[in-house]
Amino acid sequence: MKFIADAMLGRLAKWLRILGFDVLYYPVIDDRLVIKIAREQERTILTRDTRLVKQRGLRSPVLIESNNIFDQLLEIKDRLDFRDAAHSERCTVCNGILSSVSRKKEIKESVPDFIYHNFNDFIKCEDCGKVYWDGTHREKIRQKVKEIFSAPSELLRRQGRN
Ligand SMILES: [Zn+2]
Repeated sequence: MKFIADAMLGRLAKWLRILGFDVLYYPVIDDRLVIKIAREQERTILTRDTRLVKQRGLRSPVLIESNNIFDQLLEIKDRLDFRDAAHSERCTVCNGILSSVSRKKEIKESVPDFIYHNFNDFIKCEDCGKVYWDGTHREKIRQKVKEIFSAPSELLRRQGRN
């Protein structure tokens, strides 16, 4: 299960990557290119564009209607298969797969001294080399998504928020 998000859905793409899903995203991209990539790589398009979902020959594109990240997640909840995502975490910058750094020394040159001395667990993107050290932020997002998905119903949640 692979996705490509249109230019309007940067935040959603980022959250999905943190959850471990394979999501291509480019801040500036032509619709035609989105369609081309989706077809070639058999990716599901996530889009806010009603015209785009009507294009023929796409693998059931998903029209995202809300502007709100939590509602957006609910909109695609049924399309997400967490068995796919469970074993990987992806780089929020480039969608590459992250792996843990076994020897801290390896990343000494890639992070500020302060970080090097104060953190022990690092993960690194296999593609772009970006090093992540504070798992807290990512864990918070995962937790938040779990909460959203386990709410009794969308209706109840909306009432609770107002
Ligand atoms: Zn990366």
